This record gives sequence, structure tokens and C-alpha cells, in this order.
Amino acid sequence: MRLLIIEDEPDLLDSLAQALREEGYAVDTAEDGMDGLDKALTWDYNAIILDGMLPRLDGWAVLERLRLRKSTPVIMLTARDGSRDRVRGLDHGADDYIVKPFDLAELFARLRAVIRRTGTQDSTRIKIDNIQIDTAARLVHLDGAMISLTAREYALVEYLAVHRGRLITRTTLYEHLFDENESTLSNLLDVHVSNVRKKLGHDFIQTRRGHGYCIA
Ligand code: CA
Repeated sequence: MRLLIIEDEPDLLDSLAQALREEGYAVDTAEDGMDGLDKALTWDYNAIILDGMLPRLDGWAVLERLRLRKSTPVIMLTARDGSRDRVRGLDHGADDYIVKPFDLAELFARLRAVIRRTGTQDSTRIKIDNIQIDTAARLVHLDGAMISLTAREYALVEYLAVHRGRLITRTTLYEHLFDENESTLSNLLDVHVSNVRKKLGHDFIQTRRGHGYCIA
């Protein structure tokens, strides 16, 4: 899952990006509205966290322009007393909003919810043979036993499982699992795939040589 955070407060941007990376998301960042809109239109993010007050182009204008072309889920960050801002955000096509200062756990939960609502999943549980994936709790069970995955391994499993039956190219996986700062490490994906196979069985992820990966 790849996210974009558009936020001009450097400390908040850094801490948010780091916390989300620890949760296993690939995270791109933008510090003003123009750069944010540019990235939002260029990449297919799973969700965007968008601050309202931004330099160059404010959050509502970013949202308005984005919605002309894309329905990427957007969570807006708004000020405590900004009820008009929240209404404006929802009117412009925000999927949810969260009031600053916020609890990280609440933001994570809302993120999972907007991603789930716009995704192809009907429920939070995906069952593939003897493997069960709970995307709300971010847990994977094999034959009923919980399997410990790193955040990045989990993200790989979840992405392939949500799109099961479809061939996912290496490029697509890279775009969803790694952010703009990491894309040069070309064997990183293979390392994660190999580790997931050790934990969940060699046949769980199939390689289509030269094309990509697939969960049948
Ligand atoms: Ca701001």
C-alpha cells in the first residue's frame, strides 16, 4: 500500500511518514499543495492524507483539482475549530477527515477504513486455502496459527491477496510497497517474497518469470 502525505509542518510530516512506514506502508511526501497535486496525479496512491492549510495551493483546491481526474481516497487534516473546513472538505470529495491534534491509532484505523471502502474487498477477512488474512487487525493465520510477518511482508501479502488471481507486475508491486526514496533497491522485493514463502509455504506466492507475482 502506498500513501501520499501532503503537509507543510516538517515535524508532523516526518513523524507521520515514519509512523506509517513502520506500519508497512510505502509513503511519499509533499510539503506544498502544488507538489502534492502533482504527485497525486502522477501515482496511483491507495490513499492520500491531505492538510487543509498549505502553501502554494491549499488542501481544498488540491482536492477539487484531484477529483476532476481521480477518486483516490483522501483523508483531510483539519483544525480543531474548523467545522466549516470539514464541511468544505467533504463537499469537495474528501472521504474522511481527522481533527488535529490526532491520535495515530485513530488515523491508522480511518486509513484502513477508507482503503477498504474503495478497494475490491467486501470484508476485512480474506481466506486463501489454509491461510487467513485479517486486513483490519493486519494479522495472518496459517492453519489457525498466527504467523509473525514484518510490516513490509504483511503489505506484500495483503496486496497480492486483495488482487488474488491477477498477475501483479514487479513494477506495480514496487509502486505499492516502496516509496520514492527506496525504489533503487531492485532485489528488495525478491527478499520479501522469499521470506513470505518461508513463513507461508513456497507455493503461496507464484512467480511468473519475467512478468511478476500472483496468488492463485
Ligand atoms: Ca498546514
